[in-house]
Amino acid sequence: MEKADAIVIGSGQGGNPLARDLAKRGRVVLIERDHIGGSCINYGCTPSKAFLGAAHNAGRARRAKNLGVHASVDVDFPFVMNRVRDIVGSFRDGSTKRLSDASVEVVHAEASFTGERVVKAGDVEFTAPLVVINTGTSAAVPNVPGLAQTPYLTNVSFFAQTTLPERFLVLGGGYIGLELGQGMARAGSKVTIFHNGDRVLNNEEDDVSKALQESLSEDGIDVVLNAKVSRVSFAGGVFTVELEDGKRFEGEQFLVATGRKPNTEALHCDRSGIGLDDRGFVKTDAQFRTSCDGVYAIADVSGQPAFTHVSWEDYRRMTDILAGGKRTRDDRVLGYAVYTEPQVGRAGLTYDQAIKKGIRARKEELPLGEVARAVEWGQERGFYRMVVDQDTDKIVGATLVGYEAAEIVHVFIAHMQAGSTWKTLDESVHVHPTYCEGLPSLARLFEPT
Ligand SMILES: Cc1cc2nc3c(=O)[nH]c(=O)nc-3n(C[C@H](O)[C@H](O)[C@H](O)COP(=O)(O)OP(=O)(O)OC[C@H]3O[C@@H](n4cnc5c(N)ncnc54)[C@H](O)[C@@H]3O)c2cc1C
Repeated sequence: MEKADAIVIGSGQGGNPLARDLAKRGRVVLIERDHIGGSCINYGCTPSKAFLGAAHNAGRARRAKNLGVHASVDVDFPFVMNRVRDIVGSFRDGSTKRLSDASVEVVHAEASFTGERVVKAGDVEFTAPLVVINTGTSAAVPNVPGLAQTPYLTNVSFFAQTTLPERFLVLGGGYIGLELGQGMARAGSKVTIFHNGDRVLNNEEDDVSKALQESLSEDGIDVVLNAKVSRVSFAGGVFTVELEDGKRFEGEQFLVATGRKPNTEALHCDRSGIGLDDRGFVKTDAQFRTSCDGVYAIADVSGQPAFTHVSWEDYRRMTDILAGGKRTRDDRVLGYAVYTEPQVGRAGLTYDQAIKKGIRARKEELPLGEVARAVEWGQERGFYRMVVDQDTDKIVGATLVGYEAAEIVHVFIAHMQAGSTWKTLDESVHVHPTYCEGLPSLARLFEPT
């Protein structure tokens, strides 16, 4: 058995920098069963946003008619996907080099525990006083009759596509299904999205779903709501999706985007006394400690909001905790975005979440039609909403739907981190004409009448 000072399992967005930092003080072994960089770089954020970089440009060009611009759009799909893979390759090479420069020992194998803080990778067993699990999640595939016998796509195989399918079917109206589905429509496929709820993106507020559904429909996407898929088959290069109500749909490609499951099966956590919850996520306390001394779990696999910036932040918190600090997994303003068109930007709590937490919350909205820049740019679909705690006047959350909402939401993240009240935002002088100029106007709506 080989002794190390630390073992990191999985090269996710938190595990990589943590391994590099720990390697300054001792022998660090990082075990990865797939590509370096985890899902973000290889199968998640990087390829999806590189793909959308092309797809949304095509979509915006087509929609420029309302500005008097009549573009004929021709998407070179093989070029688009090669560019996506080139960007992935360069990001992956960068991560690999940084680990090597930091003298992290990378072992390319699947890791599994064989005892307390003992991890087997290939033929070698390693032990260390510190083990960090950063194994992430993978696509959860539902148990639909026939599906397993078809060559369906997941977020992993999606980015290996080389030809544009004429018809593209998507199972799942969450953010991955919507981003990739809208992207494929904008690249030129006829897209159908099947969703088992009564509105897409149903973790968000109703009017967010409504704005998105209108926009998807403008892109020619059919969204089948309350869809109960009874069978999927594949013959002669064509997928057939049958619904319980007897409707049938066909397409040349079929993407399954119905949620994520934790990568814990191969780990055999029980052999190291590490507890899992009933969905298979590693149970941790607020400082990432598992039920086994010296073993920590960070990011997606510990059931936290599954975002790259959360994983990266976990690394910074772990660094503090290992040095005896008091940081926890909860000491943050959580923000995230959905990169559809229009985009969705979220920070902190929604109004309903705030009320459920017992906050005396108040919300106000500003439609984008009242923001000069949105009118001038022809991007009026959407709204800005802010939620305030009436007892303290502090901003506790925001929902933005509209052009580049993923960028604009950072104004709220910064204000919330600083503990600002709506009055501070109201008094801020924002540049004219910008989308952000709408935010002090939104804050002004909280002025008592
Ligand atoms: C299509 C898609 C788009 C996304 N877009 C965004 C976005 O725009 N913004 C955002 O913030 N987030 C996005 N995400 C989520 C984001 O990718 C993850 O939250 C992020 O990668 C953090 O993951 P992680 O650090 O927990 O682990 P991961 O990045 O998933 O890395 C885990 C690593 O562990 C390895 N592993 C697993 N089990 C073992 C084992 N037994 N032995 C050895 N290695 C193992 C895996 O191979 C993997 O490389 C997206 C995800 C998907 C799927």
